[in-house]
Amino acid sequence: NDMSKADIGLIGLAVMGQNLVLNMNDNGYAVAVYNRTSGKTEDFINGPAQDRPEIFPAYELEEFVSMLKRPRRVMLMVKAGEVVDKFIQALLPHLENGDIIIDGGNSHFPDSNRRTRELEEKGILFIGTGVSGGEEGARRGPSIMPGGNEHAWRWVKPIFQDISAKTSDGEACCEWVGDAGSGHYVKMVHNGIEYGDMQLITEAYQLMKEGLGMNHDQLHETFARWNQGPLDSYLIEITRDIMAFRDENGEPLVEKILDTAGQKGTGKWTGISALELGVPVTLIGEAVFSRTLSALKDERVRASEKLSGPDSRFNGDAKQFVDDLEQALLFAKIISYTQGFMLMREAAEENGWKLNYGSIALMWRGGCIIRSAFLGKIKDAYDANPGLPSLLMDDYFRDVVTRTQGALRRVLAQAIQLGIPVPTLSTALAFFDGYRSVRLPANLLQAQRDYFGAHTYERVDRARGEFFHTNWTGSG
Ligand code: NAP
Repeated sequence: NDMSKADIGLIGLAVMGQNLVLNMNDNGYAVAVYNRTSGKTEDFINGPAQDRPEIFPAYELEEFVSMLKRPRRVMLMVKAGEVVDKFIQALLPHLENGDIIIDGGNSHFPDSNRRTRELEEKGILFIGTGVSGGEEGARRGPSIMPGGNEHAWRWVKPIFQDISAKTSDGEACCEWVGDAGSGHYVKMVHNGIEYGDMQLITEAYQLMKEGLGMNHDQLHETFARWNQGPLDSYLIEITRDIMAFRDENGEPLVEKILDTAGQKGTGKWTGISALELGVPVTLIGEAVFSRTLSALKDERVRASEKLSGPDSRFNGDAKQFVDDLEQALLFAKIISYTQGFMLMREAAEENGWKLNYGSIALMWRGGCIIRSAFLGKIKDAYDANPGLPSLLMDDYFRDVVTRTQGALRRVLAQAIQLGIPVPTLSTALAFFDGYRSVRLPANLLQAQRDYFGAHTYERVDRARGEFFHTNWTGSG
């Protein structure tokens, strides 16, 4: 049928969808587009898509589907949740065996697990993919994390790898993640790690601003310098720029912004998944709770009138402190990624996904919010040893945490003396000190559980799997 000329069709012409379509078209693909509100389709065709004859508007779903080459590739870039299911249902009567539906929104992975299964039963191949990098990423090259039905991958791979971000070595920041909801799971963990990276930076900012009394020029210079070293990353880079940004009165805009953090839920989902799977992803957890504490603004203002702490002025060697802080951030970041990869390993086990951790690090290397030089080292670690039980077992990362832990201990001692909250920096050290301990005080915990609930315990001087109960109030 000579109507079928589009390589792919995209539904949902909001910011992300429009930019992905333009990106695909720049890469030589013909794209059919559809949006619920037809006015947006017209605006797009007469605006950003003007003079692009290979972007075809459709105003009915049937017409839209008829424009697609076989197997048909339909990408949804719509609001996550029910809207995705609604479009899938509406598309089904027009699709046939082997056609492909791709959901590129921020869907929760259990939905993608279900959609992969339900569509497979109908002969339709589903891909649930994380897309990161915001509007600019979508336009110039996002990080793309596709999972779902692997039979679909060869039909989508060239398009996705062409439009994705590239590393400095020219590798595409897009690889097949794994079965079912694994692509959206990996995107969720990416967002959780993003929460952690952001919170760590805010703690450094508060220590330097309030503890050291640094001004915004000095803060700008410090973040600029850090961005030349091992912390080199998109988030440090934008923080550098934020520190330099002045409002209409020539004052730092960042200080005018209300200190209550918003969130859309992907960090929370990561924390919930970690709790469900029993993985100590403490740093992301603290980052989510820090946002919720910040949101209690009115309550904090009232509390500040009643509760006092130490004087938060630092009077040591400020230069040494800032250098320590850089090392401390690196240490904490390694812990956070260690925890994130531990979580993905457990989720893979639980869901029967085969994940390639090296390629996950590669996908995050460019295009997305957590992109950094550091992720190249993680890729190297997993390429060298795909079965690595934890990043801290890799020689490079073990050396770095060994070398930088002293700096973090000094920073934390100061922060605690000054009364400046450092929840993610401090949980990083608590995790490290726990993880490297042969013996933790859980022996006492087991005794307590046995005492009040007869939950029994195992003994260090007997075989594992042999359980004991003691009558603690008896005569021993
Ligand atoms: P969005 O605001 O999340 O969604 C808007 C799109 O969804 C529009 O096309 C809208 O159609 C459609 N839509 C909403 N409710 C609908 C309904 N009841 N029935 C039919 N269509 C409906 O758009 P976005 O910010 O471009 O994001 C798209 C997806 O990408 C989301 O899942 C988002 O979470 C994800 N994402 C966003 C970013 C980002 O930086 N914004 C980054 C990564 C991923 P109408 O025009 O008719 O309202």
